[in-house]
Amino acid sequence: MKTTIEKLAGDTEGVSYELTVFRFKGASKNSPTAYIQAALHAGELPGVVAVHALMPKLRAAEAEGRILGDIMIVPAANPVGRAQYHFGELEGRFHMGTRNNFNRDFPLLARPDKSALPSLPAASTTDRRLKHLLVGLSMGHDIVLDLHCDFEGVPYLYVPKQLWPAMQDCAAAMGVDAVVLWDGPSGAAFEEASIYPWLQVSPDKARLEQRVVTTVELRGLSDVYDRYAKADAEGIYRLLATRGVIADEKAAKPRKYTGVVATIDHVDMIAMPRAGAILFHVEPGQRVRKGARLATIVHSPGEENGSVDVLAPQSGYVFTRVSKRSGRAGDDIVKMIGDARSAHAKSGALED
Ligand SMILES: [Zn+2]
Repeated sequence: MKTTIEKLAGDTEGVSYELTVFRFKGASKNSPTAYIQAALHAGELPGVVAVHALMPKLRAAEAEGRILGDIMIVPAANPVGRAQYHFGELEGRFHMGTRNNFNRDFPLLARPDKSALPSLPAASTTDRRLKHLLVGLSMGHDIVLDLHCDFEGVPYLYVPKQLWPAMQDCAAAMGVDAVVLWDGPSGAAFEEASIYPWLQVSPDKARLEQRVVTTVELRGLSDVYDRYAKADAEGIYRLLATRGVIADEKAAKPRKYTGVVATIDHVDMIAMPRAGAILFHVEPGQRVRKGARLATIVHSPGEENGSVDVLAPQSGYVFTRVSKRSGRAGDDIVKMIGDARSAHAKSGALED
């Protein structure tokens, strides 16, 4: 394994960032290659600890000559966001200098080749330089995993519609509970930047059935535990074995995916009708009937009729909820996968 440090200039004098990259060389040129990054949203650490638990397994595979395809790992993809403490709170989702989401506005290349990456204008800000760097590192790999997490949630995947059902084996290997299929523009999220160039070339070159591109949501922000890290590392390792990046017959044994699958237009984003305190009645992973109470919002404490119930707009499956317990009118607090299309269906990206 080779370790390199990528340097990233900051936006002011005397400021720079460093990014660690691990590279395992595959023994076979014909085997699929993999790129795995974690914490692009810098405060989302379940993926970081999963990668930490994965590394010893990869080192062992390397020592035994079982790594077939090249593997590149970026265990903490966003040192810029990681340093953004504002009054004691980490702001890892948006770049504070530009207000841009770190997982939007990636360059969309015309072909799946680093040479298609345009050179950066000199006036680019650090967040743009970071996105340019990450696309350059990941481009051309057959398997691209972007490890994120939700506020509170089940483990689930976003998958480009074009890669399903071919990616069922991956969902099964990783042991996720739900898969959300999307297509169309998603604000140029990293996942879109990873699949877009392959959709611009002919099907025989793209070989979409061999490709894995996914945003992996590893439960919630606070689900940073040794047991989850180990389980998620096992899941990623199984995926690599299943797709032939690593030779391990036992881990590669095919599994059947039995979780929830839906297109993104089935996702209902449930918003608060009033500002106030949130009393949840449901947890991620629960099925609900139409009209079921998802939460009660206490908007006028102490008063008669001082609270209002938030009801399920249709029957379905609750897969995330926010971790805060207070909010403003209009704040989204629950994501559920409805049995039918949502009355407020979205296509590419659910959140800003
Ligand atoms: Zn994220």
